[in-house]
Amino acid sequence: MHLLIEGLPGHEPGFVSGHDLSRAVSTSDQGASAPEAEDPKLREHCGVVAIHGHPDASRQAYLALYALQHRGQESAGIATADGTHLSNIKGMGLVSEIFTDDVLARLKGNMAIGHTRYSTTGDSALLNAQPIRVESTKGLIAIAHNGNLVNLGNLRVHLERKGAFFQTTSDSEIIVQLIAHSHATTLVDAIADSLRQVEGAFSIVMMTRDRIFAARDPHGFRPLSMGRIHNPDGPDTIVFASETCAFDLLRAKYERDVLPGELVMVTEDGVTSRQYAPPNQTSCIFEHVYFARPDSKIYGRWVQESREQMGRQLARESHVDADLVVPVPDSGVTAAIGYAAESGIPFRFGLIRNHYVGRTFIEPEQRVRDFGVKLKLNPVRNLLEGRRIILIDDSIIRGTTSRKIVRMVRQAGATEVHMRISCPPTISPCFYGVDTPRQSELIAANKTIEEIRRFVEADSLAYLSLEGLQKACDGGEGNRFCVACYTGDYPTQWIDVEDILPAAAAL
Ligand code: SF4
Repeated sequence: MHLLIEGLPGHEPGFVSGHDLSRAVSTSDQGASAPEAEDPKLREHCGVVAIHGHPDASRQAYLALYALQHRGQESAGIATADGTHLSNIKGMGLVSEIFTDDVLARLKGNMAIGHTRYSTTGDSALLNAQPIRVESTKGLIAIAHNGNLVNLGNLRVHLERKGAFFQTTSDSEIIVQLIAHSHATTLVDAIADSLRQVEGAFSIVMMTRDRIFAARDPHGFRPLSMGRIHNPDGPDTIVFASETCAFDLLRAKYERDVLPGELVMVTEDGVTSRQYAPPNQTSCIFEHVYFARPDSKIYGRWVQESREQMGRQLARESHVDADLVVPVPDSGVTAAIGYAAESGIPFRFGLIRNHYVGRTFIEPEQRVRDFGVKLKLNPVRNLLEGRRIILIDDSIIRGTTSRKIVRMVRQAGATEVHMRISCPPTISPCFYGVDTPRQSELIAANKTIEEIRRFVEADSLAYLSLEGLQKACDGGEGNRFCVACYTGDYPTQWIDVEDILPAAAAL
C-alpha cells in the first residue's frame, strides 16, 4: 500500500511505500475510465465524515467511512487533530485496505474528518485523494468534499492571479484557497465568504487544529447529516456523515440534516450554526433512486421507503401480465419488492449476484470484458424457465448491460421478459458530483423508448414517470429535487462545463 502522510509528529511529510504498492497503482488505473463494452452503473464521487469530541476519533472515522464505502472505492483518507497537530493519511484503495490498526494508531486526537472517493474532476492520483491539508494564512485546514464545483475554472485563474499556489488539481482546494485569500477577519467569516463564491455541489467537512466545520451548498445537492453519541461522563461526540447508515456503526443518533446554505461549527463550547446563503433546495433525486443505501435517511426520508414507492408507482403506471417480478440485484431489489406488492405478482430472486467479483477482474482486456455481466450475475433457471418475467432495474445508461441481462433471462428459459425501470429515461449528464457518460453515450438521449426496447431485446419496456418519481421520493417532506439528468434542465448556470466534461462531450 502506498500512503501519503502529512503532519504526523516525528514524520517527514511524503509518500510512504507499504506492503502492496502494485495493488495501489492498479486500483488507481482502474478509476480512469470504464471499458467501452461495459455499461457501468453511474458512480458517486465521494462520502465524507467528521467526528468531534471522541478519544478515538480516527477509529470512529474509519468505521463511518467503512459504512460509506459504496460512495467511492478509489481512495480514502483520514485527518485527525489533537489541538496542536493536524495529521493526515490517505491512500489508494478501499478503506479497510488503507487503514490497518497500525495506520490508525498513528492518527491521534479527538477530532477527525474522513473521505472516500471516486473521482472525475482532478485526476485520480494519490495527491488528489482527500482530505486535503493546506497551510494557509488562516492556519492549517483540512477539507473533505462531496460534489462538484461548476465555476472552478474562473476561480482558479482568479486565485492564481492573486498568488495562490495550488498543491492539487482537485476543485476542493479552491475552497481552501478562497478561505486563505478572504479579507474576513475571523475563520468562520472567511469560510462563509468562500462558500458564497463557489457554485455547484458541495457537502463539505473541514477541520482546523481545534474546530470542525460542516456545510452544504445552497441547493443541498448532496446529503450531509449530523448525529450525536451521548456521553454520560462528558460532552457528547458530534458526528457528520454523507449518509445516516454511517451513524449506526458508531451508535450515533441521527439529529438532523445540515441544511442547504448552512455552515455548522463544532468547538469545545458546543455546536453553533449560521445560514451563510439563502437556501434554494434542489437536492439530487438520484441519491434516492440508486446511490444512497436503503438503510439511510436522506433529506429526511428513508431511502428504502422511496424505493419501495417507486416500485409501487411503476406497477400502477405500467402494469403487464406476468408470472414473476425479478430484480436486477442489488440496486433493483427494493423497487421490485414495491412493484410485486402493488401488482400482486410474486417476487423472486431470479438473478443471483456474485458479491466476490473483485475490481481485479475489471481490466481492459476484451476477453475478460466479454464475461462482463456473467461474472456478476447468474440466472436461477428453475425459477425463470417457462415463466413470464418482469425485470426491475434502476436505470439504463448505455443499454449494453441491460441487453445482456435480458438475453441471460431469456436463455434461462423465460418465455417473456418485460423491463421496468424505476426512474425516467436518463437523457443528460450530471455536473454535480455524479459520473455520467457524455450525452452521446446515453441511450435515452438518442433513441425513443421503443428503439431502446428493441435494442435491449425486451418484450416490453417502461420507465417510471418524472411525476411518479418525485411523488415517491417526497413522501410529504416537501423536498425540492434536482432532476436535471431526466430533463436537461439544470438548477445552476453552466459556467465552466468544459472543465468537467471532455471538450468533445460539451453539449
Ligand atoms: S443531474 Fe441527476 S445525478 Fe446529477 S444532481 Fe441532478 S438529479 Fe442528481
